[in-house]
Amino acid sequence: MRDHKKATAKLERLGFLDAIGNRLLALIGSTFLVGTVVIAIFFAHDQERMILENHERSLTLLTHTVGSGLQTIMQSGSAEIAESYVEDIKQIEDLGNIRILRSDGVEAFTDNLTIKQVNNLMGVEQYPERDLITGLKYSVTELSTLKKVVQTGSSQSVISNDNGNANMTVFYPIPNEEECTICHGSEHDVRGVLEITTSMQQAHDEIKAMRIRIVLIQLTVLVVILTVVFVKINKYVVVPIEDLSSSMIAMTEGHIRQEADVEGCCEFRMMATCFNDMSEELARTYSGLQNERDKLTTIILGAREGIVVTDRNEEIVLVNPAAERLLGKSGPELKKNGFRSIIDNPEHFAAILEDNLKSVPDIVVYNSRMLQIQATTIYSNEKSMVGSAALIRDVTQEKKLENELRYLSTTDALTKLFNRRQFDVVLDEEFKRAKRYGLVLGLLLFDVDHFKKFNDTYGHDQGDRVLQAIGKVMNSHFRDIDHPCRYGGEEFCAVLPSTGLEGVKNVAERLREKISDMRVDGLQVHISIGVAIYPNSGANSPDEMLKLADEALYQAKEQGRNRVCIAPNKV
Ligand code: GH3
Ligand code: MG
Ligand code: MG
Repeated sequence: MRDHKKATAKLERLGFLDAIGNRLLALIGSTFLVGTVVIAIFFAHDQERMILENHERSLTLLTHTVGSGLQTIMQSGSAEIAESYVEDIKQIEDLGNIRILRSDGVEAFTDNLTIKQVNNLMGVEQYPERDLITGLKYSVTELSTLKKVVQTGSSQSVISNDNGNANMTVFYPIPNEEECTICHGSEHDVRGVLEITTSMQQAHDEIKAMRIRIVLIQLTVLVVILTVVFVKINKYVVVPIEDLSSSMIAMTEGHIRQEADVEGCCEFRMMATCFNDMSEELARTYSGLQNERDKLTTIILGAREGIVVTDRNEEIVLVNPAAERLLGKSGPELKKNGFRSIIDNPEHFAAILEDNLKSVPDIVVYNSRMLQIQATTIYSNEKSMVGSAALIRDVTQEKKLENELRYLSTTDALTKLFNRRQFDVVLDEEFKRAKRYGLVLGLLLFDVDHFKKFNDTYGHDQGDRVLQAIGKVMNSHFRDIDHPCRYGGEEFCAVLPSTGLEGVKNVAERLREKISDMRVDGLQVHISIGVAIYPNSGANSPDEMLKLADEALYQAKEQGRNRVCIAPNKV
């Protein structure tokens, strides 16, 4: 039923991104990718912030803890213990740098300024001065942060980059509490600043691991989702569309009966159902058309008339056997010669084809036959040419019969002269012509004298033979343009165009003599002739002319028969 081969080949010729499934997949995939990347960036950024905040919070807590411990030790008046406490903490692995700064930015325990101030305030040499003075240790950044911490009394954190290694430093203010003022006075609210620096490597490692996790999760989800989407799109969209498309393509290639699978989404089911109904209806119509075409072909092939059909380019597409027979040529020969040369006279054929007024004779003598050619160009509803067709009828026999029939209907069987009906027609025509062109016209009417008696004496058959002999004389006696007729019974007449009084008179007299001289089986007859001339006789119609000739004939009979009488001249 379905020829998917060519159809599938066409589908395969589509570019990768021309296929709807791939387009949908690319669209969904790229949209999803962009969406998840944006989400991942926000999420990673948020996670990163949390990791850094946690790091800072831990460091601040640590700084607070160390600061509180230091404060307690200092308040107990054990500055050496505080110093060694700081030195101990410095030994803690991963902790980085730890320093105690005075509010002026100088690292504590590195000079004798504080010792001197305390001893001064206490009024005794409570604390011995150091031998080793290591000097000032602060940076510009540290100094500005330090000033801020001292001014605000709240801790600050700073991230710095040391030769590519990121560090976080928390500055924790050590408040100048009441107990502190005993040794250090109450000049400052902040006694000093605890500075702890730790490497951010671990936090960065965590961030890196977190980013990798996010990318992996994202890729996994993307792959899973695209796989699911691909499977679903394929099942519910691509397969039904491909199926429908291949069925449609197969249909356009002539395989009208198709059955698309009614699977997939509702719309595709509906489309496939409609398509199948349409295909069924088309197949039914097509089959009906084929039947009609077969019938038509059978009729054309079996027709006695020759049929030649062309396409819109006038290339012959059909020649039936009758056409081959009538034209005496094979189909291929006719096709080769061309449509307009089928009767070997392209000019005449073109005239028949293009003659809308039917002024060109459509009967041609071809191949010793009389062929009636009807040629037409067929146009569609949109007035574009569909093709041409020629119908060829052999009318030889028909014309022969027609001529015979015409002969029989116009000729008298006994004498072979025109009969009365034809005489009426001829007289009417000739009278009209004479009248129209101002011509003269002669009419001659004669009757066999005493023919009743002749019949009675010699028999009816003998009378017939006499009538036949008169017919022969009449046929030979008149000119070609004259019309000798048997009027009826033993009465005869002749219409003589363009013949005036003298001419008719002579003809009539010679005819009378001929008949009188004639012997039929040794028997003799005479005739009486009445003549009327147009316009001399004054007749205004064929009937009047006939009447005048009859009256002249009557007069000839009256005057003793075997004579010619002329209707009186009235003009
Ligand atoms: P008239 O001289 O006055 O004409 O005398 P007639 O005897 O000829 O008289 P009429 O013309 O009246 O007679 C016609 C006769 O012609 C009557 C009929 O027997 C004869 N007739 C008419 N038609 C035919 C025919 O076809 N064959 C034969 N043999 N005789 C015919
Ligand atoms: Mg008569
Ligand atoms: Mg007679």
